[in-house]
Amino acid sequence: MKAVQVQKKGGDFVVTDIEKPSPQENEILIKVEACGICHSDAFVKEGAFPGIEYPRIPGHEVVGIVEEVGKNVGNWKKGQRVGVGWHGGHCFECEPCRRGDFINCKNAKISGISYDGGYAEYMTAPQEAIAAIPEEISSTEAAPLLCAGITVFNALRNSGIIAGDVVAVQGIGGLGHLAIQYAAKMGMRTVAISTSNDKKDLAKELGAKHFINAKEQDAAKELQKLGGAKLILATAPHSKAITSVIGGLGIDGKLLMVAATGDPVEVSPMELLMGRKSLAGWPSGTAIDSEDTLNFSALTGTRPKIEEYPLDKVSEAYDRMIDNEARFRVVLKP
Ligand SMILES: [Zn+2]
Ligand SMILES: [Zn+2]
Repeated sequence: MKAVQVQKKGGDFVVTDIEKPSPQENEILIKVEACGICHSDAFVKEGAFPGIEYPRIPGHEVVGIVEEVGKNVGNWKKGQRVGVGWHGGHCFECEPCRRGDFINCKNAKISGISYDGGYAEYMTAPQEAIAAIPEEISSTEAAPLLCAGITVFNALRNSGIIAGDVVAVQGIGGLGHLAIQYAAKMGMRTVAISTSNDKKDLAKELGAKHFINAKEQDAAKELQKLGGAKLILATAPHSKAITSVIGGLGIDGKLLMVAATGDPVEVSPMELLMGRKSLAGWPSGTAIDSEDTLNFSALTGTRPKIEEYPLDKVSEAYDRMIDNEARFRVVLKP
């Protein structure tokens, strides 16, 4: 099969022919139809993830058709359209697993990091990592929902917001353009925060009621004019920008971070205790959360805006994402 490997830490993508994998007894073999390129694929390219082994095929926004199932697989059938996201499997035995908290499994696998992912014609994944894809959504549009989509959808629906709340989405990129749609469709007074006026019309089209240009306006003050945000969902991995909006939280407001960055966010205890404010993070979700995300997207017409590339053009496609030029998610089609 044709596949894209990163062969060493910091190495280029190499398009190569390797043997098609076969599923273990608890695994599914998927014929890949689409795989989104996520910012976290840089962990593979740059070797920043602890314990990563090379060569490795990246990709954790995968949609395809079940080609073969292992002998212990009961739930999935050949020919079914399925997907795999970031959460690539769990052990069922550690303490978080015994509590049903699979996303926090101590032995959790990540697709495209712990094992080969979807930048290829075929991939295998454990059965517990598989989500069904509703027929209303095409494979290329479903792919980004398996990481970008689930991350913001699951964060929003578990954040405690209720219809009519002021919900700000900071950053209009791969995650943010989906978060605006979900928040609006959940009935929130949705505020888009960006540094570019170019995105104003798009933000409104996606469902934002308000637009704040954080370069020209004080975003925190603007949010306070709306009564203060019940939730600010930080979707762009820039800690300085995240720090700058904390003052926009209302009473019981929460800043929820879903963009993976290692830089610190700065806040004083005073800023938080007056008004019972909080800062928190949210780590995407499991396969069933992916299914919920896809079904909600089918129900509400939420779709990612995508650019499609063939596997051979992986480097070009990846650079579009990493340089923040993609509008808004790049999807590889084997
Ligand atoms: Zn991702
Ligand atoms: Zn576990």
